[in-house]
Amino acid sequence: MDLHSGLPYWLIKNKLFNYHNPLKDDLVVDVAIIGSGITGALVAHELCAAGIPCAVFDKRTIATGSTGASTAQLQYEIDVPLSDLIGKVGTENAVRAYQASLQAITDVEQVFESVPVRPSFRRVSSVFLASNKQGLRLLEREYEARKYHNLPVSFLDADALFAEHRIVAPAALKNKAAAQMDGYLAATGLLKHHLKKSDLSLFSHTEIINYQEKKGGYELLTGDGVTIRCKYVVIAAGFEAGRFLPKQVMRLVSTYALVSQPVDPSQLWPERSLIWETAIPYFYMRTTSDNRMMIGGEDVPFRNPERRDRLLRWKIKRLERKFKQLYPEIPFVVDMAWCGTFSSTQDGLPFIGPWAGKQRMLFALGYGGNGITFSMIAAQLIKNRLLGIKDERAKVFGFNRLDNS
Ligand SMILES: Cc1cc2nc3c(=O)[nH]c(=O)nc-3n(C[C@H](O)[C@H](O)[C@H](O)COP(=O)(O)OP(=O)(O)OC[C@H]3O[C@@H](n4cnc5c(N)ncnc54)[C@H](O)[C@@H]3O)c2cc1C
Repeated sequence: MDLHSGLPYWLIKNKLFNYHNPLKDDLVVDVAIIGSGITGALVAHELCAAGIPCAVFDKRTIATGSTGASTAQLQYEIDVPLSDLIGKVGTENAVRAYQASLQAITDVEQVFESVPVRPSFRRVSSVFLASNKQGLRLLEREYEARKYHNLPVSFLDADALFAEHRIVAPAALKNKAAAQMDGYLAATGLLKHHLKKSDLSLFSHTEIINYQEKKGGYELLTGDGVTIRCKYVVIAAGFEAGRFLPKQVMRLVSTYALVSQPVDPSQLWPERSLIWETAIPYFYMRTTSDNRMMIGGEDVPFRNPERRDRLLRWKIKRLERKFKQLYPEIPFVVDMAWCGTFSSTQDGLPFIGPWAGKQRMLFALGYGGNGITFSMIAAQLIKNRLLGIKDERAKVFGFNRLDNS
């Protein structure tokens, strides 16, 4: 499956990590990580930092799956609002999921303070707009829930919203805890850093096509007929993880994004906030370090890559129109557009950890619109599990929440 098409900006802006190293000989390693996107890179980083020997395998060029297409906004808000998530998973787990996501933004920031990699991480405010009257009711409910549970939030009525952000809408929730970065640079930078330190092995163009559970671990088989023996295997294979899962746990979604030509910084909207809305699917926007505007949304259920790609031109027009409704005074000229695939789960939470009865196969599936904060949580949970450290977040994100896993 093609995970994206069109011209994903990050893959063009950044120099391609031109790395070709297929695994040619049988290998033994403590932990095999399948996937070199932001999830696999963060898992590898956490394990290397803890001194756990590991190797990353990817069937593609490094980090050119969904990570290369991501708009990489980091928000503590999960796709399902807290006030609804409480109804789905209970108050304790819902609040813990939100708190974990909030902490994950700081943890991503700290990862990139601890290594010589600068993926344009920038703290920005997040503005969650009410798209209509129904959205206003949701925001009122959501504001109370978040405030009650001490999550950072303020309520802007229509006047305050216009005064602070020049936006005409019924209301918005705002916080200053969000961030943005370049996900491709983050993933490739981390992997390069560990290659340089020689504490990681990295194999591109190496597809894992089969696996067998053995005493004390797994034996993986590559498309070239080479075997990898490991004590643990981490599945960071993104939206192609289905072949490792006993049953389907996610719903694939096609999504669209575009980036404008650069403008003078004075022409950008106030605070360069991340802006999104209550409508489903939602429209969202951010800026880039070179003063472009990046906008996305228009999600539709994924059927096949051809259908997703055929819709691209039409979706570009719709996204452009939405931007112009919000900020008609800002000159916006589309420069590049692309479509990608992401996945959602029934409760908006990712799946992290082992499936019941398979304790040495650890999933790191950061599903959802805020997949990157989940990738950070997955990396820490997996490291803690391998070190035997109890982590209260495990049950919030584990497969145990599925009735019959
Ligand atoms: C347009 C778009 C916008 C997005 N915006 C945001 C956002 O603003 N904020 C946010 O947090 N998230 C966002 N997301 C989601 C986010 O990009 C993903 O959650 C994240 O990139 C997933 O990273 P990953 O490493 O898990 O998966 P990927 O980047 O897809 O990496 C998985 C890798 O596994 C490899 N692989 C798969 N199967 C095998 C196999 N059998 N053998 C070997 N290798 C294998 C693939 O080749 C791939 O490189 C967005 C996604 C898209 C498409």
